[in-house]
Amino acid sequence: MDIEKQIQNLRNELNEHNYNYYVLDSATISDYDFDIKLKELQELEMKHPEFFDVNSPTQRVGGEVTKNFETIPHEYRMYSLDNSYSKEDLLDWETRIKKQIDGDIQYTCELKYDGASISLTYENGVLVRAVTRGDGFHGDNVTANVKTIKSVPLRLKGTDYPHKFDIRGEIVLPYEGFNKMNEERIEIGEEPYRNPRNTASGSLKLQDSAEVAKRPLECLLYNITGSNLGISTQFESLEKARQWGFKVPSAAKIANSIDEVLEFIDHWNVHRHELPYETDGVVIKVNSLQQQEELGYTAKAPRWAMAYKFKAEQVSTKLNSITYQVGRTGAITPVANLEPVELAGTTVKRASLHNADQIEKLDIRVGDEVYVEKGGEIIPKILGVDLTKRPSHSKPTEYITTCPECETELVRQEGEAQHYCPNYNGCQPQIIGRIQHFVSRKAMDIDGLGKGIIEILYHHHKVSNYSDLYFLKYDEIEGIRMWLDNEDAGFKKNGQLQVKLGKAIYGLSQGWGNLTRAHSELIAKKIKKLQDVFDISEVPDGVDKRKFERFVTTLKKNLFKINLQEYFSFDHYVSFDLLLILKFPSSSLSLFGDNELEELNYIDEALLLNRFYTDKRFEDFIVKVCDRNRVGIQSLTAKNILKAIEISKSRPFGNVLYALGIRDVGEVSAKNLVNHFLTIENLIDASYDDLVSVRDVGESVANNVMQFFKDSKNVKIIDRLKACGVNFEIKKKKIESEKLNGLNFVVSGKFTIERDELKKMIEENGGKNISSLSKNTSYLIVGENMGPSKREKAEKENIKMISEVEFYELLKDE
Ligand code: AMP
Ligand code: ZN
Repeated sequence: MDIEKQIQNLRNELNEHNYNYYVLDSATISDYDFDIKLKELQELEMKHPEFFDVNSPTQRVGGEVTKNFETIPHEYRMYSLDNSYSKEDLLDWETRIKKQIDGDIQYTCELKYDGASISLTYENGVLVRAVTRGDGFHGDNVTANVKTIKSVPLRLKGTDYPHKFDIRGEIVLPYEGFNKMNEERIEIGEEPYRNPRNTASGSLKLQDSAEVAKRPLECLLYNITGSNLGISTQFESLEKARQWGFKVPSAAKIANSIDEVLEFIDHWNVHRHELPYETDGVVIKVNSLQQQEELGYTAKAPRWAMAYKFKAEQVSTKLNSITYQVGRTGAITPVANLEPVELAGTTVKRASLHNADQIEKLDIRVGDEVYVEKGGEIIPKILGVDLTKRPSHSKPTEYITTCPECETELVRQEGEAQHYCPNYNGCQPQIIGRIQHFVSRKAMDIDGLGKGIIEILYHHHKVSNYSDLYFLKYDEIEGIRMWLDNEDAGFKKNGQLQVKLGKAIYGLSQGWGNLTRAHSELIAKKIKKLQDVFDISEVPDGVDKRKFERFVTTLKKNLFKINLQEYFSFDHYVSFDLLLILKFPSSSLSLFGDNELEELNYIDEALLLNRFYTDKRFEDFIVKVCDRNRVGIQSLTAKNILKAIEISKSRPFGNVLYALGIRDVGEVSAKNLVNHFLTIENLIDASYDDLVSVRDVGESVANNVMQFFKDSKNVKIIDRLKACGVNFEIKKKKIESEKLNGLNFVVSGKFTIERDELKKMIEENGGKNISSLSKNTSYLIVGENMGPSKREKAEKENIKMISEVEFYELLKDE
């Protein structure tokens, strides 16, 4: 038999087994035999690269690595869905659509799968692209990763599929696989994943597709989109999709009235818990595609479909404390810290309380038993308080009046719900947050500058605003380091670090009995303060007696030597100073005056003390006490950061303006502003009327822009950025000609200019941009990081590949 035929037969056979197992859930071959055949195919393909096929079952094992996922437009927009929560909502919907449509309406009822939405494009029966939903207009190209999902057909069955279509669905991670992944993680000491949906969508963005291949993801399909599909109802499209080899759950049903829809909902509200994957509702769609077309879309969702959300699960738990977070803009967000509780498959510890009004409205108090709900969103909601369980001495919550980070008095603007810390230039989370925003992907896109690194730079006075980034020198940043806060280890009060009792005991015992972590925690459970260990009459249950006694003996000896009154401690916490003194009571600490000790609020400085001790365990002790992460800037990191900062100087002006972090100036308004004003000078000089005349710029954006430039500090920062070569103008390069008339281009990868700009140049010179490679593609312009599958396809189709520079050559005058 000829080799090509043999390869083809093996591929067909393996595809069929895959389909039976992953789509129909019925195995037709043993794993072992499957592997043998797969190996055989792999070997043949290796020996005969001329028969390579990107959609061979051997390609499912992955291996392609994607560094940056290419953003590509959806040919057909991916809409969201309107939500309903009751029978009334559904009847209202029916009334609305009946106004627009004559005749009877049939509905298709489907389950609403809770995962990551995906759009698959098939051409001539072959999978060519898989794109995430993104913002509905553009998504990320995750084809390499999606190919590894076995229930996604790489090649369709039958022959009656449309020549080209998109099919939409949801990538889910069934519970069983999710739990197994978590068991493995726990075994190697990693935090388990929090829920299947996030894990599924996270999986799609993994760089190494071989990693994705290992995850038991599934793809459930629900919608076919395209033109000339030859299908007349939604239900029919589901059946067709099933015939072509897609996994389409069998729950879908036709309903002839809203009453029948409600029967479907009632049934699945109970039985959904028997399904192997998460569902969060039902989607009801007008069955006739003709009627769908008549109904059309709102700005956000189809009028012909409606999601019905199942009621979210609720639990009650105790509110332990309320803490306040300061955001980049100075906005204060109160956070409820809850007694950890299991809810809808995840552990909930925190919930947002939004603002002061919300706290007042709920009359929520520390110590209350509260109801928590987890809907689709990641952050759980507090619905209310169980007043029957309120402690008798409880007092209403008093909202803070000063900033928890810098103690500046908070302000609240007329008509705004949020309190703000006005200390724009001196409040650490605001400063750090602004720099974080500045370097983020859609802003200056400076890779490698995570929050931790920014904190180190700030702590060492290397940066106090984002313009300082451009003045960093290798020698000044290489090797600097600090300890990052770890909220479970302790907190700072008046500049003093307070360490959790369990950690304190664990750290102190190093060298004095070497208690284990678990035993240290058991002891901490029995006492409130460190000195209470004297009062424990017996060794706490489960704690090693000999070790405990050694620890207590040394501790006692040292405690007697110092005046405890001087070292105030909170219950369940020990001040860091006290720990140092206890550890080395007779040592050179007396070398330091009181003031110097006070400055030990950063452990890094405390480590300087290390020089005065010969005790090798000192550093170890500190690490164990604080259980903090010591981070530093290593040589390679320093180099990469500086390089990324340098590259950022060529970011387009629109991104730079967005990066400045002017309140309410998002990506879109930044783009509109720069296109209108062209230079920063024009923008700074713009009047209120000039500003509001710009598309999509409203009152508040205009005011914020004016306010921002009124602050001379901001103008100075911009001057510094400009002096370093950051881009503050739009360079218009309009070359108009007919040089590219009749030529079709596909552009792929990254270029020195924005891809959209390149596309514009093509059009301005008479060329045409097309979205995918075909026989009538004249040129493929190859950028950095273009996927290998594109190259293969271009080679196969004999399409000319040129570089960006070669493209510019095409535009040159002879
Ligand atoms: P939402 O994100 O709440 O606007 O809901 C819309 C999303 O529901 C879509 O983007 C799909 O990803 C998802 N979805 C899940 N199951 C279905 C289904 N059977 N039909 C349509 N959309 C669905
Ligand atoms: Zn502040």
